Amino acid sequence: MHSATQLLKSLTSGEISSRELTEDVIARIERLEPAVRAFLTLTPEEALQAADEADRRRAEARRNGESVPPLLGLPIAVKDVLSTRGIRTTCGSRILENYVPPYDATAVHRLKEAGAIIVGKTNTDEFAMGSSTENSAYGVTHNPWDVERVPGGSSGGSAAAVAARMVPVALGTDTGGSVRQPASFCGVTGLKPTYGRVSRYGLIAYGSSLDTVGVLAQTAKDAALFLHLMAGQDPLDATSMDVPVPPPSLKPREDFHGLKIGVPREYFTEGIQPAVAKAVRAALDLMADMGAEVREISLPHTEYAVPVYYLIAPAEASANLARFDGIRYGPRAEAETMWDVFYHTRGQLFGPEVKRRIMLGTYALSAGYYDAYYGQAQKVRTLIKRDFERAFEEIDLIAAPVAPSTAFRIGAHTGDPLSMYLEDIFTLPANLAGVPGVAFPVGFDDLGLPIGLQFMGPHFREDLILEAAHLYQQATDWHRHTPDPLADEE
Ligand code: GLN
Repeated sequence: MHSATQLLKSLTSGEISSRELTEDVIARIERLEPAVRAFLTLTPEEALQAADEADRRRAEARRNGESVPPLLGLPIAVKDVLSTRGIRTTCGSRILENYVPPYDATAVHRLKEAGAIIVGKTNTDEFAMGSSTENSAYGVTHNPWDVERVPGGSSGGSAAAVAARMVPVALGTDTGGSVRQPASFCGVTGLKPTYGRVSRYGLIAYGSSLDTVGVLAQTAKDAALFLHLMAGQDPLDATSMDVPVPPPSLKPREDFHGLKIGVPREYFTEGIQPAVAKAVRAALDLMADMGAEVREISLPHTEYAVPVYYLIAPAEASANLARFDGIRYGPRAEAETMWDVFYHTRGQLFGPEVKRRIMLGTYALSAGYYDAYYGQAQKVRTLIKRDFERAFEEIDLIAAPVAPSTAFRIGAHTGDPLSMYLEDIFTLPANLAGVPGVAFPVGFDDLGLPIGLQFMGPHFREDLILEAAHLYQQATDWHRHTPDPLADEE
């Protein structure tokens, strides 16, 4: 499977039809899915129908000398927390088991308008709460590089699908690292945009002040194209910003000259696996060789990101998830009284991690504790944001590891939620500060598992971090390595 940019070229030249491409995609999914389990729902018939329609439209445009929408006929996958009109959207939860949204999320709508074809919905931790997809009510996704390991999460299905080359691009969401960490674990490129850059309308809310819609792709170039098509103000999301969206073509910068890259010393703590630190340092050395000015910086409040995030995100989640009561969406537990319907529906259909977060969040917001927990967390969040603002006065972008480790074994953290939360240490700060980040592969550990590096940039400077990631990908081929999830069987 080629990158989206390459596939679009072949579609434009007529070298392949959308029908052929979509059939290839479906066949590859059918072959690999038993080993990977990236999808919760597949829509092959609808996709093939859309592919035929795209081919007709392209032929007609060719005859009339007209242009076509930029993604016409390109198959993609969508994380199952994004609403898709007419396609089941479960959030990885039993409480939305057969929910079919009557409308598309704005990000999905814009990509469909641009001609993209949805082939399926990808697995996720329940309501995007998790770092491994193990919290999905429908089973874990397997990392294509080693099927006994997790793909990361919560957009693990999307990352695994792109890594296994089932689809060229998949949408994800990132509230605390859910695009970047699975991208890192699966060896693909993952973009988390600035908060407010892409409309959240139709994204089923987890932590509303942190949620972003992002992209998993093979290259930074593809991520830039998709960002460009999804981004921009939306009257349906009051937090979406009216800021010019960068053009998809990355500036033809030749090397890193003139770019000041800050490396936060707090991101190389004792818990980091030596192979991860080594690969990240090697990538930084290469960037320095290519002209970057690489220097150490400090983001002094980094260590508070885990406690701050795990108060704010559950607090917001406890409010957002109040709407799932068995009355309006999904299945319902029958009972005598209204309160019992709520009680039994929520009791039976939410999984253990979601319940834990609702309880944590409700506690943190309750009278008498509000100031000590939620209020305090908001104040420290401001300090974390200021760390970034101060850093960006001196440097252009920040480079850091994405996660302290490579993909861990399925089950490694399931008995100990705190140890799972601690895995998020390097991704949470960007969400708390609202800044954009892009993760991409920079090497492998001794077991052959991918290692990621992330660039973080100032608000609305996706152009800068994508351009830098693109430059690195021009000079290296880590992003071209492809796993074989069936290796053990064949
Ligand atoms: N792992 C983090 C959590 O469990 C982040 C998840 C996300 O970004 N959706 O909340």
